[in-house]
Amino acid sequence: MTTNLIGIHALCWVGGWSPEEARRAIASSKEAGYDLIQLAALDPENFDADMTAKLLQEHDILGDVSLGLSEETDISSEDPDCVARGRELLDTAVRLTRDIGGAYLGGVLFSKLGKYAAPVTERGRANSVESIAWVADRAAEAGVTLGLEFCNRYETNVLNTTEQTLAFIEDVDRPNVMAHLDVYHMNIEEVSFAGAVHAAAAAGRFGYVHLGESHRGALGTGSVPFPEFFAALHDVDYQGVLTFESFSSEVVHPTLSSNLAIWRNTWTDSMQLAKDARAFIRENYGC
Ligand code: MN
Repeated sequence: MTTNLIGIHALCWVGGWSPEEARRAIASSKEAGYDLIQLAALDPENFDADMTAKLLQEHDILGDVSLGLSEETDISSEDPDCVARGRELLDTAVRLTRDIGGAYLGGVLFSKLGKYAAPVTERGRANSVESIAWVADRAAEAGVTLGLEFCNRYETNVLNTTEQTLAFIEDVDRPNVMAHLDVYHMNIEEVSFAGAVHAAAAAGRFGYVHLGESHRGALGTGSVPFPEFFAALHDVDYQGVLTFESFSSEVVHPTLSSNLAIWRNTWTDSMQLAKDARAFIRENYGC
């Protein structure tokens, strides 16, 4: 029996988060059949938590938060000022997550979201591990779990695979830090989808799923092996959230869209996209 919560990323609806955009995104997520909306809070300092919390309550839908760090806030940097700014931003994002009534903060929390010109250094990785441990302690006080979303090689140089992520989490050594598996990234980097799922579950660190297609467009129209992935989730009795992510130049976020290299339209009708994805998940995963 599968009872997972099914979420949708806010960028399927809106590029900003004005009260009007927030209302439209939250109401549309509910209308399309989702239990949760994932908010993109790359600038958590300027994100209206009160307005968001009220709208989520009003529409009876859950929220959680995702972000990626920038060059200036990269905790995997060797520059102590940069690391300090990153910790501050993550701490702000933890409080934002709590204040919207959320319990999960995920994404590229461990490095810049973007292409690096060289591998991460030993000192840089250690800075990231120490910083995530510090943020995790702050998050525990706020009732928030951290999800480390490993990404493909063009979007981070710190964590590209499940195996690397589990090793990193072991070094962080905090109970509220989990691996966040995104099939779009896995499709580029993993040897085996089932192997990755089983490894994360065996480590007790399987915290979150992003469902996205190989071209970032409509679910089920690309090359991600969803039958294998969904079967593996059932095998390990995954009980966490599955959030649908898709990006098109139809909906543009000022920084995130270019960080993710969204250069073309993969769809134009958000509601059709969202309803089709929800139906795809129900038919192929079972909830
Ligand atoms: Mn993702």
